[in-house]
Amino acid sequence: MPIRFFNTYSRQLEEFETRDTASRSPRDEPGRPADKIDIYTCGPTVYSRAHIGNFRAYVFEDLLQRHLELRGYRVHRVMNITDVDDKTIRGAREAKIPLSKFTEPFKHAFFEDIDTLRIKRADDFPSATDQRYIDKMIEMIAALISRGLAYQADDQSVYYRISKFPNYGKLAHFDLTQLQPTGRVKNDEYDKEHIGDFALWKAWDEEDGDVKWDSPWGPGRPGWHIECSAMATAILGDQIDIHCGGVDNIFPHHEAEIAQTEGVTGKRFVCYWLHCAHLLVDGQKMSKSLGNFYTLPDVLERGYSGREIRYALMRVHYRAPLNFTWEGMEEARQALGRIDEWIMRLEEKSQEENAQRSTSNVEPPMQRFEAALDDDLNISGALGVLFDGIRDSNRALDEQTMDSAAAHRWLQWWSRIDRVLAVTETRAGIPDEIVALAEARAQARLAKDWRKSDELRDELMARGWEARDTKDGQKITKRSGS
Ligand code: AMP
Ligand code: ZN
Repeated sequence: MPIRFFNTYSRQLEEFETRDTASRSPRDEPGRPADKIDIYTCGPTVYSRAHIGNFRAYVFEDLLQRHLELRGYRVHRVMNITDVDDKTIRGAREAKIPLSKFTEPFKHAFFEDIDTLRIKRADDFPSATDQRYIDKMIEMIAALISRGLAYQADDQSVYYRISKFPNYGKLAHFDLTQLQPTGRVKNDEYDKEHIGDFALWKAWDEEDGDVKWDSPWGPGRPGWHIECSAMATAILGDQIDIHCGGVDNIFPHHEAEIAQTEGVTGKRFVCYWLHCAHLLVDGQKMSKSLGNFYTLPDVLERGYSGREIRYALMRVHYRAPLNFTWEGMEEARQALGRIDEWIMRLEEKSQEENAQRSTSNVEPPMQRFEAALDDDLNISGALGVLFDGIRDSNRALDEQTMDSAAAHRWLQWWSRIDRVLAVTETRAGIPDEIVALAEARAQARLAKDWRKSDELRDELMARGWEARDTKDGQKITKRSGS
C-alpha cells in the first residue's frame, strides 16, 4: 500500500509522491540514491520555555521524519527559530536587556528539551534575526510590492494586499467576506486597505527600542509570516514537499506563507500540508495565554523520564486531540515497562546456546507496523501491531516454544520499530549527542554514504565511543579506558 497523508489543503487523504519521484523518468537506473524529501516545520518562538503542547507538534514531526526515513527516503528538515516578534521584543524590553540576550537562554532550553524527548535535530535551525534571512525577507517584500501584492501604508508599515491573491483562504477554507471591517475595528487597522491585510514589514516605533533593521521602507522589522516564507525558500528552494505545524498555524500563518511565497515565485509552494491537533488540558488547548501549561522540566520533576513523555505525546493519532493527564503518563510508563520486560526476555532467550528448535510458528509480523504508519501515520494501529506481537511472542516464551534464532528475529523486528518510536531503555547512559551522532551514522550507512559513515565513526571515537556494525544493526559502546 502506498504512503498516504491527509493534506489540509485538499482536506483529503492523498497518496504521497515526492517531487523527486515525480521528476524521474522510467529509464532512471536502479541504485540511484533514495528520493529526497524537503520538510519545513514551524519552530518555537523563543520568548519563554516551550510547553509540552508545543512538543506534541515537534514529536509528531519527528515521527513523520523517522517513518519516512525508515521507508528509505532521505529527509532534509528545516525548523525555524522565531527570535524576533512582538512577544520577544516585549520580553527583552521588560527585562531591560538586548533582544539576543533575552532569547538566548530559551533557544538553549529548546535544544535541551528536544534532546530529552529524543527528537531528531533538524538539518537546519535558521534564526529569523540572521542578516542573510532578513535580506531575503526584504527581497521578497520588494518583489511583492512590484507585483502589486503589497503596499506601504500611512503608518510606514508594509502590508500584503490579500484581495489581489485569488487563492487567499484556500488552505483554511476561509471565506474572505467574513473579514469585512466592522464598527469594532481598532484605529490602527484603518491604515490597511482590508482588515485581513497582514504586516510584512512593521515600521519601527519607540517600543521596539534598538530592535530594527534598515529597509527600503525605513527602519523596522519583519512580520512573523514572512520570516517563515523567507527561511523556507532560502534553504529549501521555491517548492517543498511537506510543511507541518499545529492546527493553530493554519490561519493566518500558513495561509500567509502561501500568499507570500507563491506571490513571489508563481509556483506551488507546498505539496502536502500536515497539521497536528492540540494537546489539551481539561478540554482546552494547552497554551501560555490560558496558563494551563506544563513545561518539560515540570513533568520531569514529577519523576517521568523523557522517553515516557515522548511516548505519551506520540501514542495518539496526530489529527486527534490529546488530553494531557497524569493517568495518561502512568499508562505510558506501563506500556514502556511492558516493552522493556519483553526485550529483556528476548535478549535472554537469544543468548541461549542450546539448540532447542522452535515448536511454535509465531513470527514477527514484519511489515505490519510500517504499513499502519504508511496510512497517515496511524500510530494507534502501529502500536496495536506491536502489542499483539508482544503478547504472542511472550506466550511462546512462556510455553518454551521459541528458540534463540526466533528470539533474534523478534529483536530485529523491534530494532526496526524503535528507529521510529525511539523509546528503548538501553539508550540510558549514552549521552544524547552520542545517540544523535550514532543515528546520523546509521542514516549515512542507509544512504550508502560510506565516507560520512567513517567520519562519524571517527567523531564518535574521538568522543570516547565505539560504533560496531553487527547483524542486529549498529551497537555503540564506551571505549575501554575512556
Ligand atoms: P508557537 O511557539 O506558539 O509558535 O508554537 C510552536 C508550535 O507548537 C506550532 O506548530 C504550534 O502550532 C504548536 N502548538 C502550540 N500549542 C500547541 C498545543 N497545545 N498542542 C499542539 N501543538 C501546539
Ligand atoms: Zn512558520
